[in-house]
Amino acid sequence: LNRRLAEFGTTIFAEMSALAVRTGAINLGQGFPDTDGPEEVREAAVRALRDGRGNQYPPGPGVPELRAAVAGHQQRRYGLSYDPDTEVLVTAGATEAIAAALLALLEPGDEVVALEPYYDSYAACIAMAGGTRVPVTLRPHEGTFRLDLDELRDAVTDRTRLLLLNTPHNPTGTVLTRDELAAIAELAVERDLLVVTDEVYEHLVFGTAEHIPLASFPGMRERTVTIGSAGKTFSFTGWKVGWVTAAPALLTAVRSAKQYLTYVASGPFQYAVAEALALPESYFAAYRQDMEAKRDLLAAGLAEAGFGVYRPAGTYFVTTDIRPLGERDGFAFCRSLPERAGVVAVPNAVFYDHREEGAPFVRFAFCKRLPVLEEAVGRLKTLS
Ligand code: PMP
Ligand code: GLN
Repeated sequence: LNRRLAEFGTTIFAEMSALAVRTGAINLGQGFPDTDGPEEVREAAVRALRDGRGNQYPPGPGVPELRAAVAGHQQRRYGLSYDPDTEVLVTAGATEAIAAALLALLEPGDEVVALEPYYDSYAACIAMAGGTRVPVTLRPHEGTFRLDLDELRDAVTDRTRLLLLNTPHNPTGTVLTRDELAAIAELAVERDLLVVTDEVYEHLVFGTAEHIPLASFPGMRERTVTIGSAGKTFSFTGWKVGWVTAAPALLTAVRSAKQYLTYVASGPFQYAVAEALALPESYFAAYRQDMEAKRDLLAAGLAEAGFGVYRPAGTYFVTTDIRPLGERDGFAFCRSLPERAGVVAVPNAVFYDHREEGAPFVRFAFCKRLPVLEEAVGRLKTLS
């Protein structure tokens, strides 16, 4: 492994899912639903496959039906209009979108300011692009993890090329507020920064929280690359269909990099996701409500089991503090948890450069059937 990647090794998700398989523990580690997305969308994929749509290389930017559906979704939901031909790109999941955006937009030595803890592929992709990551740490405050806007401003230097954001935020469940996003937008305009914003959990926001795309703020449309994913929005993480929306110059840059990563992917599934994006609002509302009930069950259960709980406003993850259980090292805790309680979780420290900041935090996924979550909670209660 070269020097750029030497620090990365095996992703925590592979490690923890393998541990779950080996021990038979309930896997609340890697974030994937244990219920597949809508039947009619699966049928749409089968139809595409049978009709011979997408069985050969689809067009590089994505099939026109899906690009139109992505543009339609951004318009209907957020009032953001994107031209399907010049401002929408289909990718092999959000993962490829992140990689292509960073590879396309960074020069070696450019600094990328990103919210810490961060999704693991960010650090690896910044490294592959030869960039330098500059973390701004979200810190616990009154039961949630908050961004300190002054720290964010201070992190920007003359070498900063872009901000890499994620809201709703994995792993903390924080949803950036309108005021926070407005301040970030002002900073980006003032310092002439590009922004790559990972909004894969856009449909998973709970209670009074609201997802507002950064691209909708003044001055942002032309400097923002927005990323979405069918894996998260429709519970088809194995299909690897993601997308990018951005102004033409940025979109063209990302597409240039994407061509040489996968070229294209997921042919028949692109047609199915196009149909999924046109589902009525009732689908999205039901999905959100279902996940919210799961959040409530797991958050309450973890609190009863003695964990400190940061109740997420979005995503399908709960971050906990293990110190009330007399533990301090999330890595050791997660490695022993399958044996001690038959449950797998993820140590948040892997998402930090400042590992010590993340050490006492552990993430549990709640995108699982209610009886599975109940069983997991029952097991975790035996810990204390
Ligand atoms: N970004 C975030 C914040 C994620 O949590 C994930 C995956 N769970 C991804 C990107 C990758 O999405 P995809 O599976 O579409 O590649
Ligand atoms: N994004 C998912 C998570 O955070 C996992 C995706 C992956 O395994 N790369 O758990």
